[in-house]
Amino acid sequence: MWTRLRLAFAAILLLLLLTASWGQGVPPTSAQTSAAWVHLDVPPLRLHALPHTYAAHHLPDLAREAQASLNRIAARLDMPVTTPLDIYFVERIFWQGGVAYGSKVIISWPARNYLRIPIAAYLDHELTHALASRLTQPDGETNALLAEGLAVWATGGHYGVEPIHHIAAALARSPNYITIPDLADNLHAYQHETAYIEAGSFVGYLVETYGLETVKRLYASANTPERIIGRTYAQLERDWLTWLRPIPNDPAIAHWFDLRVRIFDAMRTYQETFDPAARELPPEPSNWTAEHVRTYAHTTQDPFAIVLETLLADINAAHRCGDLDAAESLLQRLTTAMRARAPTDADLHARLETVLAVQNARRWAQGDPTAAPPTPAVLLWAPLLALAERTGARLTITDLATLSPNHAVATLLIEKRWSDTSLVLQWQTTNTGTKWLITAITEQTQRSRDLCTKSPIASTTNRHSRTSTLVWLKPMRASSW
Ligand SMILES: [Zn+2]
Repeated sequence: MWTRLRLAFAAILLLLLLTASWGQGVPPTSAQTSAAWVHLDVPPLRLHALPHTYAAHHLPDLAREAQASLNRIAARLDMPVTTPLDIYFVERIFWQGGVAYGSKVIISWPARNYLRIPIAAYLDHELTHALASRLTQPDGETNALLAEGLAVWATGGHYGVEPIHHIAAALARSPNYITIPDLADNLHAYQHETAYIEAGSFVGYLVETYGLETVKRLYASANTPERIIGRTYAQLERDWLTWLRPIPNDPAIAHWFDLRVRIFDAMRTYQETFDPAARELPPEPSNWTAEHVRTYAHTTQDPFAIVLETLLADINAAHRCGDLDAAESLLQRLTTAMRARAPTDADLHARLETVLAVQNARRWAQGDPTAAPPTPAVLLWAPLLALAERTGARLTITDLATLSPNHAVATLLIEKRWSDTSLVLQWQTTNTGTKWLITAITEQTQRSRDLCTKSPIASTTNRHSRTSTLVWLKPMRASSW
């Protein structure tokens, strides 16, 4: 019975490693570093992922998203793509989850995605950087105001399609406003979400006023706009603020954005305190060492950090879906727990117990003599199901049948809450007389429904016009200006 249980358990764990991965995988040695990636070519894109990661398992889905994104961005920037672009997907979230080095971009796409930023937003943003890198001259000027502003504008928002001019108008009336000359001087010194939205709206204003081609020329003389359009950043800031002025004051947008800032500031506190590796920016992949592979093929296994990440995921889900009261209350619980460095309410205690139970069960299935043997099978399933649910997957046994005394089939539906795809897996085990073996695992990917019960951004949102708004907020009177 124990052997059968252990094998069945190993099967479940294998499935979860393949799907709702806890970031497991065998890190390569340094000699294998350059060959550490798995690849998928969809010219002109070249996709790369670290073996055994969530992204590696979803490369075909990611390729479709990346092709759609590239088409979108190439049209948006009016820049046809003729040379290869490389996208590297990693398991650990670093910073906000994306970075570009010329035509190479790195994007975090983990199983336990606590940021809940849509993949399209990452791809649009980083591929804009990759294309825009061709606008710079060897002896030209660059600055982050134009680089990040162009990426936010081309994406239609920062972490998705968002009403950037409405948010900027709210910021311009708030004490958190950052001046454009300050952003031009050193954008990365300021509050991240605020700086990026202001930059996106500012670049959007420049495109609407001076045209895309002029903005592209400005990109190569980024520190001296007066050379291209005859106005300094201080003068352009006054023009932009005048342009934003007709947008009516909207406390709901201001509240929504203020909460985003506090959520992402809390997220950065989480990273600094509980997953310091997430505050390191990965270098260009050709410069990676075996240590980089180890760092980015995995994510934290600390049980309490996993609990905090599940809470962060819930916070971002609530905020993204427009449930601001829930997001606010979850954020307070996160802040309290991070200060205490321990679970501070019954739900967090339950989450921690679940994580510990499954980590123990995994060690037991791997033959670790220090792991406590789990008892009845039903008790083994329960924490697995609960953890799958809480760490990013909804795992439902849709069928579990013993076809004969020596042959069992389980069909599992695994819905990834942070992804728009789900997996249907069928796993068969056969008893050879002395032990049970996994004889087949079949997998089918299917699109899943929109995960928000109320979508924060309507499909009717006009992503590139000043009439875009958050539909769960009260309607904007765009025609008034
Ligand atoms: Zn960027």
